[in-house]
Amino acid sequence: MPTLVLERPERKVRPTKAFVPDLVYFEPSSLDYPKGQRILEWVKEKNIEYHMTTSHNRITNLPGETDLEKYRIAKRTLVVGIRRTLKFDQSKPSAEYAIPISTGCMGHCHYCYLQTTLGAKPYVRVYVNTGDILQAAKDYIEERKPEITRFEAACTSDPVGLEHITGNLADLITFMADEEFGRLRFVTKYHHVEPLLSLKHNGNTRIRFSVNADYVIKNFEPATSRFEERIEAAGKIAHAGYPLGFIIAPIIWHEGWEEGYGDLLKRLAKTLPKDATKDLTFEMIQHRFTKTAKNLIEQRYPKSKLEMDIAKRETKWGKYGQYKYVYPKDQQQALREFITERIFEYFPESRIEYFT
Ligand code: SF4
Repeated sequence: MPTLVLERPERKVRPTKAFVPDLVYFEPSSLDYPKGQRILEWVKEKNIEYHMTTSHNRITNLPGETDLEKYRIAKRTLVVGIRRTLKFDQSKPSAEYAIPISTGCMGHCHYCYLQTTLGAKPYVRVYVNTGDILQAAKDYIEERKPEITRFEAACTSDPVGLEHITGNLADLITFMADEEFGRLRFVTKYHHVEPLLSLKHNGNTRIRFSVNADYVIKNFEPATSRFEERIEAAGKIAHAGYPLGFIIAPIIWHEGWEEGYGDLLKRLAKTLPKDATKDLTFEMIQHRFTKTAKNLIEQRYPKSKLEMDIAKRETKWGKYGQYKYVYPKDQQQALREFITERIFEYFPESRIEYFT
């Protein structure tokens, strides 16, 4: 009797949904701005629970029984406020300044440095006084011209994942389009780029996608867009004429890393449309952590496979006044050389901006 082979129906992979918070807080003054009002309308339309709060820096009554539960809820809580500190932080090596349009992220990347920098405030804050933020950027540009001033918009958040709520990137991109001496850049793990595709940008904004070996994306990047989605979005961005880049970060030493990173570059080359490879940049950041980060990550993601064995690392003095743990020199060298060679093999015309 012939064996009956039943064909399995192809499993449909659902697109990663754009972020919709479970809970929203508004600073009352945020509603004096059209953007604050627009977000309020959106929240009402989506039927999301919302409250008023005195300050976006002091949300004290978040629900949740345990610290872990509170953390998970905070990651799904949006706070709409005013950015009062208009002195921008430095953002080396990728730009001169960090431009603050949001703080916090709904992603759950185990290694994310926001674990420590945001401390007890892991909720997602967005700022609606974009005019003040752009005026501050303008002052920085004026101060440095004719030098070019670059602003990084993703230092404390992933703004692409919030764009459908705020429209902040659209404001920044169109502002920078007319700035001869200003440039904008941001990086993302989300694919929700539709609102950016038809904007006037004049090539003054570089959009980078964060990519990694399959092992890293699968094990350490929950609640972000899948690799294929990011690459498809990268193709659209290039098609819309934006300068494009990739950040390979954090580079993680793991069993089979050569195969993992080799395969990453191969898949990128295979999937990326040809017109996307002109003026392509790469940035590489090896995995690092501090003792504070290690403690927090172990509490928040207790089952994580993220390797943070201090005995296997080398120390480097960090800007937050703490030692950070990086890979020993020989491992760093091996990672750097291997990935650099693959980049130039598949993308000979691209430019590597740095390895850190
Ligand atoms: Fe952090 Fe980026 Fe992951 Fe968000 S997407 S958690 S900002 S690494």
